[in-house]
Parts: sequence; structure tokens; C-alpha cells
Amino acid sequence: MTEETWGRVRDELLRSVGKNNFTTWIEPLQLNGVSEGIVRFDAPTKFMRDWVSRNFADQIRRELEKAGVQVERVEIRVPEAGRAPRPSVAKPAQPKKPARPADDAELPGAPLDSRFTFDSFVVGKPNELAHAAARRVAEGGPVTFNPLFLYGGVGLGKTHLMHAIAHELQLRRPELRVLYLSAEQFMYRFVQALRERQIMDFKEMFRSVDVLMVDDVQFIAGKDSTQEEFFHTFNALVDQQKQIVISADRAPGEIKDLEERIKSRLQCGLVVDLHPTDYELRLGILQTKAEAYRGQYPGLKLADGVLEFLAHRITTNVRVLEGALTRLFAFASLVGREITLDLAQECLVDILRASDRKVTIEEIQRKVAEHYNIRLSDMIGPKRQRTIARPRQVAMFLAKQMTTRSLPEIGRRFGGRDHTTIMHGIRKVEELQGADRQMAEDIDLLRRLLET
Ligand code: ADP
Ligand code: MG
Repeated sequence: MTEETWGRVRDELLRSVGKNNFTTWIEPLQLNGVSEGIVRFDAPTKFMRDWVSRNFADQIRRELEKAGVQVERVEIRVPEAGRAPRPSVAKPAQPKKPARPADDAELPGAPLDSRFTFDSFVVGKPNELAHAAARRVAEGGPVTFNPLFLYGGVGLGKTHLMHAIAHELQLRRPELRVLYLSAEQFMYRFVQALRERQIMDFKEMFRSVDVLMVDDVQFIAGKDSTQEEFFHTFNALVDQQKQIVISADRAPGEIKDLEERIKSRLQCGLVVDLHPTDYELRLGILQTKAEAYRGQYPGLKLADGVLEFLAHRITTNVRVLEGALTRLFAFASLVGREITLDLAQECLVDILRASDRKVTIEEIQRKVAEHYNIRLSDMIGPKRQRTIARPRQVAMFLAKQMTTRSLPEIGRRFGGRDHTTIMHGIRKVEELQGADRQMAEDIDLLRRLLET
């Protein structure tokens, strides 16, 4: 086949696929010869190759045949030695430049927080595995697990670790293109690309990165076309052995309204959770931050026991813990006082009060079931014999006392019981507490166990 024939076939294709499709998909193809019925083309990227093969190969074959060319098969390849020129829409990134700020404009990720480094990350039992995995990824060596999936509750350090990976990679492997963004930003860019008909740029951009980090992926649950696009991006990068790091507030299998195939893909790599902080970790974090504040507020005195007190009392999440310390230092320096327990209690009264109500109904049910040696399922089940009904009532009582849940809400958590049943249970326990010493002691013990 001559270039001239191909020229005519292209004109036909322009007519049959439309101008947009033509410029995006057909024009960049380079005819690379015909032999034994196989017509070969070069495409600039793997992604284009796959797309054109899937969507336009038949049409190309038909038009060729109309023009008198015998075609068994249309074969599209990506030239191996060096990349072929990319389509005009993509970044002409040869050779690769270090990911300096100037480059960030081309990789429109989210800005990195310069404080979130490995140096400032305090490692303890609850996060040591996540930390080790993040460190491994940050070495930038060959991909050993893909993706790295980090999950855990709010404020436990997921974003911090992801930023730390990005910082470290920029130092060690400046030639790598590292892209960090939230799932929300991913969706936003996707929608914008659709609207502005620049989906091709979008796809090319995401497929050209070496390390992709998507934070809070639970956000795309239930958003179908974004999920679809995410899935394709994900697969394309995994195929190319590019590292992916994902975070979410729960395990892949537990994200509702996330497609099964995505869940299973996400589980293919290394899934690690950041556990709730323990006392030692909280104290470690407070000590590190307090050390930094000493430099910032020279002359400010910190009494013994204050950090221990905070680590003991503020157990919700690290963000709240940090906020408390920040406020404490700022307040103390304003009023020119030493940071003492009294000052802390005065200044942080709202945070401390909020932290008091940290116990969940599930925790109460579990502890009570353990204590009375019954099954957790009996807490919500229908059994009425006293050995089971009594512990259940104790749990109801503690749920009312230790959480802010209303009676109907508590009823719901106890297998959908009516609020009058809950009320009755609570009354019964109150009665027994006065009359039965064992019962009073049990409740006292359980409450203490649940408070720590
Ligand atoms: P997440 O993304 O899991 O909600 P973040 O990474 O945003 O949590 O962390 C919340 C705050 O707590 C950040 O300021 C972060 O620096 C801090 N933080 C969390 N874990 C640690 C840790 N182990 N060491 C030091 N700071 C931490
Ligand atoms: Mg986060």
C-alpha cells in the first residue's frame, strides 16, 4: 500500500469517525508497512494503541478494504527504541526533568505540606507497619507491592505518610514523576476534562506518572464514571509497573458502593492499617511537637506531667492532639504563664470534654460480652434467658451513660429494639446497682475498662 492510498483512506476515516475522533486517534498513527495481509501502524503511546485497537481497528480495516487493500489484520504497536513523538496534546518530556516546582505545573497534583516528612513522623506500635511500607515505597526501587493501600481512621497519619513518600522520592529520585492528589481532586479533574473535551490530555497525564498517590479514595464510592476512569488509570499504571499508593478511611472490602473489581484490585498489593494511637505513641508525638514549640516560644515553661495528662485524655486522633498543644502554647505565651495541669484543664476544657465521650456502643457491647462470657451476637440477638438478658441490659445502661446516643439510637444498635425496651433495661440495672453489690462492682469495673 502506498502512502497515497493511506492518504485517501484517512480522508474516508475522517468522514466516518468525525473530526474529533480523527484528530485524537487516527491522525497520530504512522503507517509502518503492509505484508501478508497485516497492516502495521505505530502509535505514540500504549494507551493510544489499546484504545485504537479496541475502538477503531475494524473501521480502519473496512476503509482499507474499500480502497482495495487486502487486510487480514490491523496491527498497532508502540515503537520500542525511545518513544515515538507523543501526540501534540501531551507533554514532550524527553529527557525527563527532575520534579522541581516548575514541573508541578504539568503534573497538577495537590501541593505537599512541607511539615509532613518522615523526620517528623513519630513511629509507634500502631503505625510501624504502615511506616515501614511507606519507607519502602519512598526508596523508589523496583515495585514490590502494588498498590500500597493505607487505611485508618481520621487523623492517624495517612496523608502525612503519603506526603512523606513524595518528599523523599523528590530527594532520592528527582527524575521520577510523582503525582499526589485526593480522590476528590481526581474526580474534579476528570469532570473538568470531560466538560472541556480534554479527556485525552487527562488520560495521558495520569498514565505518564511514575508514582501515583490518591488520598481518601473512599470519596469516589458511588461515583460511577469516576470509578471507571480510576480503574483504567490504575490498571494502566500497574501494567507499566508504576507504583501506586492509595489511602482510605477503611479497608478496601469495606468501602460501600465501590465496584467489586476495584475492591479486588485494591487488595492485590499490600494493605496496611494505621491503628488507633496508643498512649506511648501519643506521648511520643506530643514530646516531639513540644520540642519544636520550645524553639518557637523560648522561655515558656512546661510543667512535668502535662504531656502525659494530654496523652492520657485526648485519645481521639492526632490532629486533635496537635491542636490542643498548639492552643496550649499560644495561650500560655499570651498570658505569660507556665504550662501547668491547671492551665491545660482551663484552656482545653472543650477538647477534654469532647474526648470524654469517645466510647462507642460496639466497644461497650464487646467489653460487656467478654466480661460476662457471652457471645457478642447475643447482644443484638433475641435470647431472653437471664444469663444473656442481664449483661445485655448492663450494656444498654453503659451505652446510655457513656455515649451521647439517644434511646432510639441505642435500640437500633441492640438489634433494632424499641426505645421502651432500652429504658426498661436501664431502669432494671439502676435498681440492681443499689441492691446487688456484685452488680455495682461489675459496672464500676466495666466503666473503668472502657474509659482507658
Ligand atoms: P489522616 O490523613 O490519616 O486523616 P493526617 O496525616 O492528616 O491524618 O494527620 C493528622 C495530623 O496528625 C497531621 O498534622 C500529622 O502531621 C499528624 N500526625 C499523625 N500521625 C503522626 C505521627 N505518627 N507522628 C507525627 N505526626 C502525626
Ligand atoms: Mg488525610
